Amino acid sequence: MIFNPKIECMERDEMRKLQSERLIKTVKTCYEKSKFYRRKMNELGITPDDIKSIDDISKLPFTTKHDLRDEYPFGLQVVPPTEVVRIHASSGTTGKPVVDTYTKNDLDMWAEGVARVMAAGGVGPGDTVQVSYGYGLFTGGLGAHDGAIKLGACQLPTSAGNTEKQIMLMQDFRSNVLACTPSYAMRLAEAIHNSDKVSIENMHLRCGFFGAEPWTEGMRRELEEKLRIKAYDIYGLTEMCGPGVGGECECQNGTHLWEDMFYPEIINPETLEPVAPGEFGELVFTSLCKEAMPILRYRTRDLTRLIYDKCECGRTAVRMDRILGRSDDMMIVRGVNVFPSQIEACLTEFPVFQPYYFITVDRVNNEDTFDIDVELKPEFFHEDPQQQMPHIKPLFDRIVSMVGIKPNIHILPPYGIERSMGKAKHVLDKRNFKD
Ligand code: ADP
Ligand code: ZN
Repeated sequence: MIFNPKIECMERDEMRKLQSERLIKTVKTCYEKSKFYRRKMNELGITPDDIKSIDDISKLPFTTKHDLRDEYPFGLQVVPPTEVVRIHASSGTTGKPVVDTYTKNDLDMWAEGVARVMAAGGVGPGDTVQVSYGYGLFTGGLGAHDGAIKLGACQLPTSAGNTEKQIMLMQDFRSNVLACTPSYAMRLAEAIHNSDKVSIENMHLRCGFFGAEPWTEGMRRELEEKLRIKAYDIYGLTEMCGPGVGGECECQNGTHLWEDMFYPEIINPETLEPVAPGEFGELVFTSLCKEAMPILRYRTRDLTRLIYDKCECGRTAVRMDRILGRSDDMMIVRGVNVFPSQIEACLTEFPVFQPYYFITVDRVNNEDTFDIDVELKPEFFHEDPQQQMPHIKPLFDRIVSMVGIKPNIHILPPYGIERSMGKAKHVLDKRNFKD
């Protein structure tokens, strides 16, 4: 189902017109109400009069995570506190939290973004959406929650954690939609399969909306098979509101971005120039409707590309490819760029392995070491290292061919790798603690 056909299927030039109107308004507000933006625009020698349409967006200054930290907590807020009805803060996976504040309209817009994603998966009244994203300052829980309500679905706010109870409720309350991080979905799947109290046969799950961290097609296959669902990607970030900046449609071939609310650009992170259409680079967003904390050209550090081909679902909204990772997640090992998601992609090609992994990078005798802990599925596990060799070799070869460096692979006993309830941590770079 298409939640807002008028917008989601709007002709491209009509969309440009709408974006232009909204950008002009946003820039004007930023200039008039925010010292920060006024200073930034003055530095570039521009005023709101220079922004006549969305084509002028590249004249505007970028905003970075660093700027948000400098302006912590409310420096970028352009409405009086009396208009603010909620505050969220990012989980701070990469440092001090980033704050976002919301007016009533902001919450409404955000809920619509999530509703559009869930509607694409067919969610509506009569469905029970189990929200197993963490509730609290993290935008995942309440974001999915409000989106489900907007659709008239029943939401079950279990939050993350308490896994045994979650799966009992999932069965007893007949939850048919699951919303959580892909790592937690995997943890739930594992708990269901190991439980003697519940069984996947007695579950009613039909689809899931997974996001807040990068995941791969391999992980999708695992989740779809284990939970017997269709698994959809949902994308977002606190700086724009939270989850629901975009999501996959029923075609599962890229994340439609809600361009009427968030204008996407892809830039070369070195030169800061736009890349050629369809090329990979850093995703940049400008909010077009946010009231409390509008944001201009925010550098997400997420690496992806945009796809403008028409989607078979009928939506004209641009699609974005899977996020390869954040530029912060990228490790340079022996001079080679490596993303954790590449290791996940290799691992999930081999059905004998669990989709769990942990990478440790260090420097010993002036050389980078690259160790990867993995787990075999319990039925394939052997204590005897000799018996493990036939499994390690093909994975080793695949990683070498994909990323170009040789890892040391260690097979841990079942459950040896820590399971995550939210965003999984996949890397320890010990070099960061050395000179
Ligand atoms: P934090 O920066 O503390 O993790 P957020 O919860 O705001 O705070 O995280 C937003 C980030 O999470 C995005 O910029 C992106 O890197 C990642 N992310 C969110 N959804 C997805 C997704 N579907 N696929 C890949 N990465 C995602
Ligand atoms: Zn589509």
